[in-house]
Amino acid sequence: MAPSHTMRCCKKGLNWIPVLFINLVIGWSYYAYIVELCVYTIPDNAERISYLVVFHIFFFMFTWSYWKTICSRPEGPSKAFCLPKAEKELYEKEERAEIQQEILKKVAMNLPVYTRTPGGAIRYCDHCQVVKPDRCHHCSTCERCVLKMDHHCPWVNNCVGFSNYKYFVLFLAYATLYSAVISATVIQYFIKFWTKRLPDNHAKFHILFLFIVAVMFCISTLSLFIYHLWLVGKNRTTIEAFRAPVFSSGPDKNGFYLDFSQNFTEVFGDQKTRWVFPIFSSLGDGHSFVTRLVHIDPEQANAVLQQNGKSSVEGATNPSALDNNTQHTADSSKEKTDGGQTVSVTMESEP
Ligand SMILES: [Zn+2]
Ligand SMILES: [Zn+2]
Repeated sequence: MAPSHTMRCCKKGLNWIPVLFINLVIGWSYYAYIVELCVYTIPDNAERISYLVVFHIFFFMFTWSYWKTICSRPEGPSKAFCLPKAEKELYEKEERAEIQQEILKKVAMNLPVYTRTPGGAIRYCDHCQVVKPDRCHHCSTCERCVLKMDHHCPWVNNCVGFSNYKYFVLFLAYATLYSAVISATVIQYFIKFWTKRLPDNHAKFHILFLFIVAVMFCISTLSLFIYHLWLVGKNRTTIEAFRAPVFSSGPDKNGFYLDFSQNFTEVFGDQKTRWVFPIFSSLGDGHSFVTRLVHIDPEQANAVLQQNGKSSVEGATNPSALDNNTQHTADSSKEKTDGGQTVSVTMESEP
């Protein structure tokens, strides 16, 4: 076996250590709560049953969303974003960067691609040999391009992107609720053990640590959950929060902002009953997204960029007015542009 292959296998194995650690903590918390708290410590039967029911509801939702985040394969660009054979051969033979860009520009003309590199070039991944769709980035850990990549998360050993971002946000929500339920129900026994109103026994160690670990877990997941709710509300990925996407007219951190409600719908779907379950309901195919600049003429786009989303722009197509089911498809944004439909409404700007 080649040394590089062995190294790669070792690295892949090591990447699972944080997931293993989290699962050991979850497994121990389950044992400590069910056996040490509910079976050995709680004297009242009604209290025990109510705790067990509530605990299991949140435990189930938490582990369901966690494993969906882990097991969802990050989706990459479709074949439509690969260079056609003739162009690919030309691109590979060509050594001059500017000619290579011309080839890419020609290919990208037929694709719903509106973002550029900071230098204004078409975004192309040499590793995967694809034109990168908007919001798509190459993950060096997964060694592939990932649609609407948010970040690579070591705690799930997976890329968080278009295919599992909803699951990830729900995982943070249910992790917070799970640890909040544990903290709220364990605290009275924590105090009783701490003040020696309950005798020292094998349950004491578990109850004391269970409360401390649950509180720490709750604080850390809550802060992450609030941050991601903020990102969803702004329609930004973590990557875009640090580096604004660049459009042909320049960088704009609010380039994908629609309105608060539409931003949530884009991630969680248009059926609110499905929002709380880790089942796929995000809108679109992850290859193209409505941007607030592509339907505006260049002068207006410049004005928006200069004001950086601080005021409204008249005369632009309002993305939120478009139909949810069609606005995210590759062809629809082209249709809207080609069709020349201009709706004279005030464009939503960042509050
Ligand atoms: Zn790539
Ligand atoms: Zn990754």
